[in-house]
Amino acid sequence: MDGNDLSNLEKCLLQSEALHQYILETNVLPKEHELLKKLRAETKARIPKRALMNVPPEEGQLLSIILKVMNAKRTIEVGVFTGYSLLATALALPEDAKITAIDISRKCYEIGLPFIKEAGVEHKIDFIESDAVPALDKLVHEVTEDELFDFAFVDAEKSNYWEYHERLLKLVRVGGLICYDNTLWLGTVAHPPQQDVPEFINSVREAVLKFNEKIAADTRIELSQVCIGDGLTICRRVV
Ligand code: SAH
Ligand code: CA
Repeated sequence: MDGNDLSNLEKCLLQSEALHQYILETNVLPKEHELLKKLRAETKARIPKRALMNVPPEEGQLLSIILKVMNAKRTIEVGVFTGYSLLATALALPEDAKITAIDISRKCYEIGLPFIKEAGVEHKIDFIESDAVPALDKLVHEVTEDELFDFAFVDAEKSNYWEYHERLLKLVRVGGLICYDNTLWLGTVAHPPQQDVPEFINSVREAVLKFNEKIAADTRIELSQVCIGDGLTICRRVV
């Protein structure tokens, strides 16, 4: 089994594909920004085996609403890939907003960059090509109290989510949000490990299970586990 080929996986946790299609057709796709559609299509054309890694449009839509409701101005993204969630964020934020976007590789970001430029939102983005933990450590060292972030979206290495969490609690203001993606991991968290799947599915499942247990017990945040896309855990910093 090709461990890199995600093209046959289904990331929607809704048990009925017809219901998912209904939601997409009724509420999501008619409202999806033209350049988000183009970025998604380009990702599918250029890297079909990993295109599933883009957050799905219904999740981009949720992130956009959250960012607008909370008047976010300074955000962090950990795990950019070709930039679907990044472009959704940049489109939702005001003109003078700043997004610090971190990814270990710039290569995939460059596939999405022409669409980000065409949308006229590149000036909001500060892309940092780095392993996330040292990049977050540097930010913790540099950031002043009045520059704390309003929002963070985390979608990089699942086995490192807790390392990101400890740092993000120092970077995101009290009352701000930290959102973790893929926390239901194809629905595998509720079942024993499967035999007939690529090995990384089971190893990430272990990491996600550990993270979910720890985050649920963390009194520094309150949270909501949202069943959208591959599962999104929304945490609000309370202390
Ligand atoms: N949010 C993106 C998808 C991210 S996929 C979207 O909606 O399109 C996960 C990304 O995390 C990949 O681009 C990968 O390069 C990045 N990544 C993996 N390990 C990382 C690490 N240790 N530090 C920073 N980025 C990492
Ligand atoms: Ca993801």
